[in-house]
Amino acid sequence: MLIDAHCHAYEFSHEDLRKYRSSFRIICVSEDLESSIKSLEIGEAFPNIVSFIGLHPWNVPETPRSEIEEIVKLIEKREVAGLGEIGLDKRMGKAYQRQKEIFEIFCKLAVEYGLPVNLHALDAWGDVLAILRRYDVERAVFHWYSGPIDLLKELSDNGYMVTINPSVKIQRRHRMVLEEVSLDMVMTESDGPYQYRGLNLKPDMIPELVEFIAEVKDTRREVVEELIERNFLRFLR
Ligand SMILES: [Zn+2]
Repeated sequence: MLIDAHCHAYEFSHEDLRKYRSSFRIICVSEDLESSIKSLEIGEAFPNIVSFIGLHPWNVPETPRSEIEEIVKLIEKREVAGLGEIGLDKRMGKAYQRQKEIFEIFCKLAVEYGLPVNLHALDAWGDVLAILRRYDVERAVFHWYSGPIDLLKELSDNGYMVTINPSVKIQRRHRMVLEEVSLDMVMTESDGPYQYRGLNLKPDMIPELVEFIAEVKDTRREVVEELIERNFLRFLR
């Protein structure tokens, strides 16, 4: 099985999603209330898709309190596998203090319901880690990790993971992360559907990504695939 541990799968057609049914396990992350509901729907329709719900830090400023309360109600009422895409963004996000406030609400819920979190932490890697530690969040994955290399050890000490995105072929910082990171804390992701510097990011890119990781880590593709699947099962437990 191939793993896409961070995918906005509700944006694909059901026809597309059927293609992934037999060979992929996909974590569908959400960005707001509407996509959280869609994520739960496709999680019910496709046995290989796992529904995560949440509020993307970019959407924090314009999301009214009532909508956040609706998302919280979904977490309390429905069979949610995890929370995400949540976190902090210092580079592209606005209203950083409010982002923190909302992120802390989700961290509390993650602990209360024993849920893993799927994180967006652009230029806020250390702050996100500090909040996870403060609330004692047990399972976390930092999506498309391009943060400081020296933070990787601390993530690993806490049992946290990172995802590697197909952009690793062209994004220098991300490539450095792949070179330094231990494969026992890595999952693959597409973040699809998303266009990044000419790359059409979607689950179809994962097989090639696994090849590439094997090449950089000087090991066989099968070894990488197996490790990543094991990490995925440990993350979801
Ligand atoms: Zn994303």
